[in-house]
Amino acid sequence: MPLKQGSGPPTIETIAVIGAGTMGHGIAQVAGAAAFQVLLSDLNRDALARGIRAIEKNLAKGIQLGKLTEDDCDRTLQQIHGTTRLEETAEADLIIEAAPEKLDLKQDILRQLEAASDRQFIFASNTSSLSITEIAKASQRPENVIGMHFFNPVHIMRLLEIVVGNKTSESTVQTVHEVGQRLRKEPILVKDVPGFASSRLGVALGLEAMRMLEQGVACARDIDTAMELGYNHPMGPLKLTDLVGLDVRLNIAEYLHKELGSETFRPPELLRRMVNEGKLGKKSGEGFYDWRDDKEDARRVHSS
Ligand code: NAD
Repeated sequence: MPLKQGSGPPTIETIAVIGAGTMGHGIAQVAGAAAFQVLLSDLNRDALARGIRAIEKNLAKGIQLGKLTEDDCDRTLQQIHGTTRLEETAEADLIIEAAPEKLDLKQDILRQLEAASDRQFIFASNTSSLSITEIAKASQRPENVIGMHFFNPVHIMRLLEIVVGNKTSESTVQTVHEVGQRLRKEPILVKDVPGFASSRLGVALGLEAMRMLEQGVACARDIDTAMELGYNHPMGPLKLTDLVGLDVRLNIAEYLHKELGSETFRPPELLRRMVNEGKLGKKSGEGFYDWRDDKEDARRVHSS
């Protein structure tokens, strides 16, 4: 989708991020590094503290690798403040929502924010699969609602999918596009269709890898190696699922299965079983790989 010309976009100075989990803390980090004022919010105090710690850890690793200086890290951290009060985030110019992948929850957050302030903020959802047009139905100002789909880990992955809802205004698209560039991402514009441009292909590959594991075609590591060495993917689909979170992947697969009516997206039994057992991937310490010591190359734990 080409970017059309329109009236100049409003200036964004403050960014609020809702949800300090896997994605939220990463978004807050890149926004802080780009010198935006950042308010990181989570209703769970422990999750907020974990999110801030994760940012500190990422930055420390940046110093270790010689990519960042102590000053860079201090400047980034100084830009980021935490809160457990959602209504405080309604004072931001741009609110990026990274709460769990549930339509009701995202709509509810949007309603609460609009009730808390009359300000004309832009509301961007980091949803991986939900319809932006549906989320925007909860809004009095659907022209200000858009998708900003970041990838995990946010401070490393360069792609930003900007998802344009039916009512999203041109000026909102332009503003978010500029913010994306300032965050040092490569924004692409995508129509609001199930799975957008990236998830549809990525999820199909991940689910097929799980079916192959179920059928004993090869072990997790070897399935991943097939894609890494045979197709030059930087990471195999099962390891990637561990990073994304198996629960997040299951929700997306269920949604795409329903919306696209394709068997490709029917969640494999193995995925359901692992989610029921609390094996959610890296965040729970165990998924298709063992992450308990944060060893990426840890031993394989599932043979079927
Ligand atoms: P997560 O479970 O790691 O984090 C979600 C956080 O939101 C939790 O800390 C939770 O306490 C908090 N939260 C829940 N309800 C809240 C509320 N009402 N107000 C404030 N905070 C609330 O989830 P995640 O993996 O970061 O995913 C967040 C969103 O990003 C989802 O929509 C997901 O589909 C999308 N996404 C995830 C990935 C990924 O790799 N994990 C990639 C791209 C997009």
